[in-house]
Amino acid sequence: MMTKFVFSDLPITKKLMLIMHGATLLAVLFASLLFGASEAFSFRKATLNQIATLSGVIGTNSTAAITFEDPELAGQVLGSLSANQAVVSATVFLTDGELFSTYHAEIDADTAETQVPAVARELVDAAIANNSSQQRFSGLKFVDAVHPITFDDEAIGYLHLRTSLNSFVTTLQRIAAVAAIVMLLAVMVAYVLSSRLQSAVSFPIQNLSGLMKRVTNDQDYSLRAEPKSGDEIGALMVGFNDMLKQINLRDEKLAFANQELSDAFDETLRAKEAAELASSAKSDFLARMSHEIRTPMNGVLGMTELLMSSDLTGSKRKFAETIQHSGESLLAVINDILDFSKVEAGKLTLEESDFDVCDTVEGIVDLLYSRAQQRGVGLIGVIDPDVTAFVHGDAIRLRQVLMNLVGNAIKFTSEGDIIVGLTQRESEPGMKELHFYVQDTGIGIKSDQLDLVFDSFAQADVSTTREYGGTGLGLAISKQLVELMGGRIWVESVVGQGSTFSFSIPLIAARQEPALAGFSLDPLIGIRVLVVDDNEINRDVFSQQLSAWQAEVSTAESARAAVAMLEAATKRGEKFDLVLLDFYMPETDGMELAATIRSRPEFGQPGLLMLSSADSESVPDRPEAKCVDLYLPKPVRRAVLHNSLITVLQEGRVEKFESTAPLAEELAEDVSFGLQALLVEDIPVNMQVARLMLSGVGCEVVEATNGQEALESIVKQRPDIVFMDCQMPIMDGYSASRIQRTREAKTGVPRLPIVALTANALAEDRQKCLDAGMDDFISKPFRKADLIEALRRVTGKSGLVSSKAPQAKQAPAARAETAAVTKEPAIDRTSLDQINDLDPNQNGELLNNIIDTYCENAEVLMLELMEAARGDDLDAAVRAAHSLKSSSANVGAQRLAALCRSMEHNGRNGDISAILENLDPAWNEYQIAVDELVANKTEAAA
Ligand code: ADP
Repeated sequence: MMTKFVFSDLPITKKLMLIMHGATLLAVLFASLLFGASEAFSFRKATLNQIATLSGVIGTNSTAAITFEDPELAGQVLGSLSANQAVVSATVFLTDGELFSTYHAEIDADTAETQVPAVARELVDAAIANNSSQQRFSGLKFVDAVHPITFDDEAIGYLHLRTSLNSFVTTLQRIAAVAAIVMLLAVMVAYVLSSRLQSAVSFPIQNLSGLMKRVTNDQDYSLRAEPKSGDEIGALMVGFNDMLKQINLRDEKLAFANQELSDAFDETLRAKEAAELASSAKSDFLARMSHEIRTPMNGVLGMTELLMSSDLTGSKRKFAETIQHSGESLLAVINDILDFSKVEAGKLTLEESDFDVCDTVEGIVDLLYSRAQQRGVGLIGVIDPDVTAFVHGDAIRLRQVLMNLVGNAIKFTSEGDIIVGLTQRESEPGMKELHFYVQDTGIGIKSDQLDLVFDSFAQADVSTTREYGGTGLGLAISKQLVELMGGRIWVESVVGQGSTFSFSIPLIAARQEPALAGFSLDPLIGIRVLVVDDNEINRDVFSQQLSAWQAEVSTAESARAAVAMLEAATKRGEKFDLVLLDFYMPETDGMELAATIRSRPEFGQPGLLMLSSADSESVPDRPEAKCVDLYLPKPVRRAVLHNSLITVLQEGRVEKFESTAPLAEELAEDVSFGLQALLVEDIPVNMQVARLMLSGVGCEVVEATNGQEALESIVKQRPDIVFMDCQMPIMDGYSASRIQRTREAKTGVPRLPIVALTANALAEDRQKCLDAGMDDFISKPFRKADLIEALRRVTGKSGLVSSKAPQAKQAPAARAETAAVTKEPAIDRTSLDQINDLDPNQNGELLNNIIDTYCENAEVLMLELMEAARGDDLDAAVRAAHSLKSSSANVGAQRLAALCRSMEHNGRNGDISAILENLDPAWNEYQIAVDELVANKTEAAA
């Protein structure tokens, strides 16, 4: 490809040379042209003058010839022109244009040029017409001229002369040659001069350019140009040097700043590492501290609880209560600090699952109702009937936020009502959110403090701490939790009137369909209900809820108004199906109203439901009590209200004083689970507390002090449930649980419920327990109520009994029941007697040994059998069934032996499914057999 010639891109030396050469050439060319032109002009003039002179001479000499009409003479005159070599031809014409005489130079006479040129005639014609001389140049060959020949000033003829221009051409050629030589010389001189002179200009520029390149390539800004002239190039170099100096200076500053920055960065990095180390150490320390504090707290609170359940009186009970109260406060502070440090470290994570959000709100109201009552404040849950109850999220953290807000509301309110509300609304098109609010009628918060209360350790008023206590962490944690849930929290408040703390979180519907969604409405549709309550909020809440169930609701704010409404209805020939009465009302209370309604048959004997507070336990003892069909302790959960309305509607009076808040604490006295519990705990105090508590709820306790012992005990004792401490020497609770779950998976034995007992209260600890295969989690220090709740969750049993029967001893029987086998003894005593007979010492030792050996072997064989059958290994199954058959028969476990025989037989016939069918009955039989053998062993030993 040809590169385009671009002058501007040429190096400066070439540019200068080109300019100089160009200028020189142009000058010489111009001078030559000018010289040539001037030569041509003078030549032309001279030629014409010469021709004119020649014409004059020839014309004069020809006058006689023309006058005497002697062409020959004319020819002689013309012949004299031969002396002039330039003359090519000459012709004399008469005035009428006739050719008179002609002459041709010799050279041309031989050639074709013997004719008078046509141009001669043209010029003659023009001369005749104009009566003047005429000339014409024919290129650079000839010049033709016609002059009149006069006699006495009168034209008597015309002379045409053709003159050759050869000499002129020769002259021009000579000039051109000279010019070319001059040009060549000029170029040579110009070259020599320019190559010398241009370096004076280009050299400094080249130098500067080279320097710039070096500066750029080497980044060496210390280099300098050396200006050698005072012209622009010199100025350029000075400028360039200045620029380099500036850059150098800036570089130094930059390097300095960089160094400072790098030092600062290193410092920050070190600080960050130190902070991270400190933070991790802090987290670690907090976790450890929490564990360390919780462990003795478990002893303190547990023992206090047990102490309080003993016969304490007077001041001693007071002391115990104070210990318990202080312990619980301390625990709350520890929990807050832990949560807060988690939030700070950004380590707080949510644990999400499906749950009933309405239940959460009602649970909070339930839990805190009596605390509010003690402060003389009402606590009312207001749940919008349209709220989607089953949602997905972190129920525990949601509960924590609500607990904090309601707890604060109770703390800062001394009269009026606190409303815990839940509604659902659209945050933006297509997006729903749950909106919670806690509205109180308490002291309120100053407007300039409103934003501060969500800051950590912030309290609206410093005096708050003194008067109300608290750490100022609750709202900061709540804010973080709400934001973690993708929501926001805010407060509105008027000092002296109260505050409303609200938060909203995006509604995420439950992943799975709830087993029982919503309420069955049918029985309540169209039912006429009268709600009598002096509290307007309560009336509204009930009215709204009952309307949502499609009942027809009327409300009355007093007994008197209620009676009036009943009378009016009677007059209209209508009647109410149900009356919902509040017990406490000014003037006439609910009980009296109930008696009045019952005494007026015209009211149609509506079903009467009485709402009473927990402190009104004496209510049913009043004489009018029997007038009421059902008592509902406040606060009433929606589900309980719903069911109670239907019960009264369908069944009439319910004898029992219904308790809707089966708080474990209240019921603890009447709880007995009748289970055998394996308690795994290494710290003696904790062991003692848990043992006493478990015994208190009707559990027979077997103890183990580490995971390994626990695993052995599970095999030997076959407990119904395990309460497992997590951190223990030798083998911790996580490993033990994991091993147990692996065993179960291998052998197919039923899953043994394991409840973790841990002093670590963090969510991830809980997760760690669940990951290790445990089913539930109780955080230390725990109360008896926590134990009961865990037992209920895990076993699905309420543990409620009518009397405090000592059920612990029934544990094996209870298991036998679940095993659903016949109550006939599993062991044939005669076999044992026979063994005893063989004992030389007759002290039962032999029997004990044999039973021990059997128990150990049978367990292994049973597990082998199950594993083999489930793993489709017929041979191994047959072998295990055979061994188990004979050893079982030896100790009198005849039913088990029979089952094994049958399985062995099936196995030999290749019928694995028959073996599989028999596995569960065999397992049950085996457990009973072992239980009975162990029982016999004890007897034998005795
Ligand atoms: P604590 O209650 O432990 O001090 P919180 O973070 O829960 O910490 O509350 C911070 C402060 O906000 C409280 O000390 C109190 O000044 C103010 N506050 C919170 N809730 C209310 C309320 N319902 N009414 C009035 N003030 C409140």
